[in-house]
Amino acid sequence: MPSAFPPDHREKSISRLKIEILDILIVGGGINGAGILRDLQLRAADTGEPLRAALIDKGHFASGTSGRNSQLIHGGLRYLKYFEFDLVREALRERATLLKIAPHLVEPLPMILPFYGGWIGGLWNRLFYGTGLRIYDRLAGELNIAQRRYLSRQEVRQIEPKLSTQGLFSAAIFSDCRIHSARLLLENLFEAAELGAPVANYIQAHGWERKGSLFHVKAEDRLTGAEFNIRAKRLVDARGPWDTQGSLRLVRGSHIVVPRLNASDHAIAYFGKDGRIIFVIPWGPEKSLSLVGTTDVDHRGSPDDVRISEDEVRYLRAAVRRLFPEAGDPAPLAAYSSLRPLVANEGKSATAASRSHKIWLDGDVLKIAGGKYTTYRAMSEEAVDLLKPDWKGRCRTAEAPLGGTGPHVLTTVDRRVVDWAIKREMVRRLSDLVFVSTYWGHERLLTEEVLRPVAELMSKRLPWSQRQIEEEIAATLELARMPG
Ligand SMILES: Cc1cc2nc3c(=O)[nH]c(=O)nc-3n(C[C@H](O)[C@H](O)[C@H](O)COP(=O)(O)OP(=O)(O)OC[C@H]3O[C@@H](n4cnc5c(N)ncnc54)[C@H](O)[C@@H]3O)c2cc1C
Repeated sequence: MPSAFPPDHREKSISRLKIEILDILIVGGGINGAGILRDLQLRAADTGEPLRAALIDKGHFASGTSGRNSQLIHGGLRYLKYFEFDLVREALRERATLLKIAPHLVEPLPMILPFYGGWIGGLWNRLFYGTGLRIYDRLAGELNIAQRRYLSRQEVRQIEPKLSTQGLFSAAIFSDCRIHSARLLLENLFEAAELGAPVANYIQAHGWERKGSLFHVKAEDRLTGAEFNIRAKRLVDARGPWDTQGSLRLVRGSHIVVPRLNASDHAIAYFGKDGRIIFVIPWGPEKSLSLVGTTDVDHRGSPDDVRISEDEVRYLRAAVRRLFPEAGDPAPLAAYSSLRPLVANEGKSATAASRSHKIWLDGDVLKIAGGKYTTYRAMSEEAVDLLKPDWKGRCRTAEAPLGGTGPHVLTTVDRRVVDWAIKREMVRRLSDLVFVSTYWGHERLLTEEVLRPVAELMSKRLPWSQRQIEEEIAATLELARMPG
């Protein structure tokens, strides 16, 4: 099966959305919406029962949190501090499942956890986090990637000569996984579309009302402004941070991208004095960069305007200075931010707020909140069990390999790649190519000079006027803009 949408899938999908009565419409093409659609389509194929399920997104797929996260498939070592053993156990199980079903996208990533604080504080950290690592290994059980091991100060120096040894007591190595999160999401949608589901980006749901046995969803094609009605028996509300009517707590997390900081292939997992964890992850073309994140800040503004603040840049740069004092406080080349749509629990800090999920039926609307990217498959399975109880246990996605033959992640941009991305990945705007099909926007300093040739290539295919080319460049630069 190819890793792409069938040709011209957007146009064909929109035509179907206008005339068909759907069994299920999924609103939101983040990882949760995409995972639910794939699960539904696979189970429909397995049972042989007809199912008309479709998915729409108001922007491009993975343009929300699902493409702008820490790109880790992990158990979440830090949640052990809050005694969230079930969450960590589930995430570790899912880590193993995703490694099995998508080995081309999920890659083991060893991490160095340094223990700072001199003799006393360092020893305390070694005991405290060492206990956490022991529990982490225990919870992973036979699904573990590699057992923790400890490094002396000298061994840390040898592996990571640029890592600060000021106050360093010792360190541990443990393993999690990295992922190209936008790609895994797309591959869920590719497969669902291949199995017959209409899928369309830039279709916004402006609300819905119940008329008899059907929902009437007021939809707008944001590329043309055309409005139309979609009829569906049931809805899945997978709008993530945009579900403003629910009891979600929106917590912003930001990352900066700087020239490569550490020497080895390990990531660094650093617990600062405030108890937060900061990751420094080898990143970008030939791992020539480091991704540094993340922050936890309650977000009061619109989910459509999520960007790093000056305070967050300062906070992340301070962590870089603490860990790599010889790097000379490099200015970030890029930054990105997104929102954690967490289940609200009063009184807890943004960092301590639970990452556990909640899935429930509100009449004929399935709602989904909280959770982690890592657990999307299990969450999707739970959602489909609720939607179609008769299908429980059928065609478990834990057993179904994900993704077909390449290309998997686009890394260069030329005429051929642009043609492919437009025809087979539903790229319609410059930012879709720059932030989702490729990760260019998260991997380099975006300037007009970088973007113009790409916009011109796209303009020949779509086609855009000169004014549209300028607008696309300006909009993409605005998305990449950093404070100051
Ligand atoms: C900074 C940060 C780092 C993280 N890192 C990790 C990590 O390393 N590992 C991990 O496991 N988890 C991580 N997470 C959590 C994880 O990324 C999220 O739990 C997950 O991506 C949420 O997916 P979603 O589908 O609910 O939301 P989203 O990906 O935001 O998708 C929602 C979609 O709904 C669409 N939409 C909204 N309104 C409408 C509408 N009216 N009509 C149509 N479409 C609409 C949006 O355009 C969007 O595409 C991180 C989260 C953050 C914020």
